[in-house]
Amino acid sequence: MNEHDKQNRREEYLRKLRDPRWQRKRLEIMQRDEFTCQYCYDTQTTLNVHHNYYQSDREPWDYPEAALITLCENCHTEETENRRSEEVLLLHVCRTMGLSSSGVNGLAIALHDLGEHSMFSEHWQYDLTWFIRHFWEIRDFIDPLRAEVRRRAEELKAKESKA
Ligand SMILES: [Zn+2]
Repeated sequence: MNEHDKQNRREEYLRKLRDPRWQRKRLEIMQRDEFTCQYCYDTQTTLNVHHNYYQSDREPWDYPEAALITLCENCHTEETENRRSEEVLLLHVCRTMGLSSSGVNGLAIALHDLGEHSMFSEHWQYDLTWFIRHFWEIRDFIDPLRAEVRRRAEELKAKESKA
């Protein structure tokens, strides 16, 4: 695609974002998310409704609710800028782990099922994506706890062996 086509597509997309159908959808999503950034919980910065993915045959308003999320301007910029490199990182990890094509397929299906399976209510889907997003912070919190539990268990074992 040359620069001229890209420019045309950008303009067409911006025009679609002024469509009342998108305006309404956007408002519905912001109301669902209580006018709060779903990444950093900011309520003061300008809010955007972000598409988690795009499909060329869909209009911006023609996505399921789960595909849309309210983000503040800062988180939205960061998300758009980092998305591709993080996806490349995921692919790189799959390759260096030595996952076969069916292994990658299995991982994709497992992730999809975690998000879609009927055993997870909508609320659970939310919790799950939250957990994945904040995994590092949770790990930082859990690791010292685990070390403490291990220490106490060893103390107890030592006491028992003396008795
Ligand atoms: Zn934010």
